[in-house]
Amino acid sequence: MTKPLLIAIIGGGASGMMAAIVAARAGAQVTLLERQERVGKKLLATGNGRCNLSNIDCSIKNYHGADPAFADATLRRFPVKKTLDFFNALGLCTVVEEAGRIFPLTGQASAVLDILRYEMTRCKVLIKVETPVVNIVRRNNRFDVHLSTGALSADRVIVAGGGAAAPHLGGSGSAMALLEKLGHTLTPVFPALVPLKTTGHCTRRIKGLKVNATVRLKCGGEKSGEEKGELLFTDYGLSGPPIIQLSQSAGRALQAHWPACFTVDLFPDWSDAQLAAELDKRIISRPEAPLDFILVGLVHKRLVPVILHQAGIEDLRQAAASATKVQIKNIIQCLKQWVFEICGSLSWNDAQAMAGGALTSEFSSASMESFLVKGLFAAGEVLDITGDCGGYNLQWAWSSGFAAGLAAAGK
Ligand SMILES: Cc1cc2nc3c(=O)[nH]c(=O)nc-3n(C[C@H](O)[C@H](O)[C@H](O)COP(=O)(O)OP(=O)(O)OC[C@H]3O[C@@H](n4cnc5c(N)ncnc54)[C@H](O)[C@@H]3O)c2cc1C
Repeated sequence: MTKPLLIAIIGGGASGMMAAIVAARAGAQVTLLERQERVGKKLLATGNGRCNLSNIDCSIKNYHGADPAFADATLRRFPVKKTLDFFNALGLCTVVEEAGRIFPLTGQASAVLDILRYEMTRCKVLIKVETPVVNIVRRNNRFDVHLSTGALSADRVIVAGGGAAAPHLGGSGSAMALLEKLGHTLTPVFPALVPLKTTGHCTRRIKGLKVNATVRLKCGGEKSGEEKGELLFTDYGLSGPPIIQLSQSAGRALQAHWPACFTVDLFPDWSDAQLAAELDKRIISRPEAPLDFILVGLVHKRLVPVILHQAGIEDLRQAAASATKVQIKNIIQCLKQWVFEICGSLSWNDAQAMAGGALTSEFSSASMESFLVKGLFAAGEVLDITGDCGGYNLQWAWSSGFAAGLAAAGK
C-alpha cells in the first residue's frame, strides 16, 4: 500500500479549511497550521457575523489584481453552484438576498465554521492552533515547515495564510513573506473594501449622517465606477456601501498617484431641471423666507448649511428672493454633483480585504501550484486576486482552496 501524501496547510481560514477538507477526502494526510488560538476567526466576523459566503451573480468582472483573468479558470472549476452543493451536503442551508448575496439560512457565520470544523474532524485533518509557521524550506523533494517550536516535514505545502486586512482577526503579511522567501514576487499591497479619506473638512460637520445617493468615481479624469446606496459622512471622509465598493478602484488610482474624486448625486432620481423647478417653486411661494429655510423639507436639515457653504453662500439667512441665478445654479450643482477629492484610506484595521499579493503569473490557475517551487501551492487572499464586496472574496477563497487541495492531493 502506498503511503498517503503528507500535506501541510498554512492558515486555518476559509481557503485553508476548504483545501484541508478536499485534500483529506482525496486521501492525503493533512495538517492544518493556524497561528491564532482557533481556526476561522475572520470567517466568524464576515458579513457582520452573518457570513456573506458567495454571490449568485459571481463572474470574473467582480475580481481585480494585476491579472484578474487568472481567477477565471479557478472559479469555473468550482463555481457558485458547486460551492453551494458542497455546503448543502454538509448540512448548511443558504438563502439569496439583495444583489445576489448568499448567506446561511440561519444568518449565522458560526454555522459555516461549525460545519467546516466538523467535516475536518470527520476527515481526520490534524488541526494545530497557536502554531505560527515562520519559514518553509524545500529540501530533497520535501518541505521542512518551520514552526516557532520545532519543524514538521511535508510532501506538499499549501500557503493559505490570507492577507494583511483586519489584523485583530488574524490578518498579517506573514503568508506573503513565506512565499517571497521561496522566490515568489509580491505586487504592491494596500487596504481594500475600506472607508476613504477626503480633503477639506466639510464631512466633519455632518459626521454620522447617512443619505441615499449615487456616487461616481473618477480616477485620472476618467469615470471608473458608479454605485448607488447609503452614503455615510464621517469625520475623516466618506464611508457606507457605495464607498466600500468603489474603494478598490480608488486605492489603485492612489497607488498610481492619479488624482481620484467622488461626485455625489444626492438626488439621483431628479434631473437638474426638476430640481431647479422645485427650488423656484419654493422661492416663489416664500420669497421672504431665509435661504436656508427654503431647503428644509427637501434636504436633510444637517446638510443645509454645509450645502449652502459649499455653494459659496455666506449669508444663510438672506431672503430667498434675493438669491442670484448663479447661487441657485451652485446649490443645484452641489446637490447633483458634490465633489470630494480622495486623499487616502483608513488603515488595515478597517479594511475587509487586501489588494495585491503574490503575483499570480507564477502559479497555475488550474492547480494553484507554484511554477517556481514544485509541490508548493497557494490559495485565497494571499494571491493577488481581490473581489468586490458582496461575497466574492469568500467565493475566491472556496474556489482556490478547492483547486489547491485537490491538486496537492494528486487529483
Ligand atoms: C470584517 C470582515 C468582514 C468580511 N466579510 C466578508 C463577507 O461577508 N463576504 C466575503 O466574501 N468576504 C468577506 N470578507 C473577506 C474575507 O473574509 C476574506 O477574503 C477571506 O477570509 C480570505 O480567506 P483566506 O483563507 O485567504 O484568509 P483568512 O480567512 O484571512 O485566513 C488566513 C488564516 O491564516 C492564518 N495565518 C496567517 N499567517 C500564518 C502563519 N504564518 N502561520 C499560521 N497561520 C497563519 C491567519 O491567522 C488566518 O486565520 C470580510 C473580511 C473582514 C475583515
